Amino acid sequence: MKRATPAKPTNPDPKAAMHHCLFCKIAAKQIPSAIVYEDEELLAFKDINPAAPVHLLLIPKEHVATLSDCDASHAAVLGKMLALVPKLAAEHGCKVTYDADGTPAGGYKTLINSGPDGGQEVYHLHVHLIGGPRPWAGQR
Ligand code: AMP
Ligand code: ZN
Repeated sequence: MKRATPAKPTNPDPKAAMHHCLFCKIAAKQIPSAIVYEDEELLAFKDINPAAPVHLLLIPKEHVATLSDCDASHAAVLGKMLALVPKLAAEHGCKVTYDADGTPAGGYKTLINSGPDGGQEVYHLHVHLIGGPRPWAGQR
């Protein structure tokens, strides 16, 4: 009897996807990057095409494609990522500071693009940290 053609998977196994994932390869040091921070769960490196004087990408080492693929089980790592942003910003000279009368200076954007309509190009969750003195060449 002729067997039916198997249906294409509509929800590919994320573990299979990670073998082709650029940022998994960066996390595994199979592709070089300018690493600025690393611990057991997270990696931060310079964006190869910076939109501003400071442009870092912060990723979890474990593959997650988008923010939409996260749930409550990711709360700890997401919190850790966000909590690391001020430290990275300070180390790269774009911390928000206040003068004597409380006027703020410095600063940065944090950005997570999700899915095609969100402008995501690399399907491994990442936080952009974009900052430094304006004007910025690439407006985001
Ligand atoms: P997104 O559009 O949010 O998915 O952003 C992907 C970012 O990854 C872009 O800002 C790219 O410039 C950056 N990028 C792509 N390839 C590399 C790479 N090999 N090393 C560092 N950054 C990269
Ligand atoms: Zn990945």
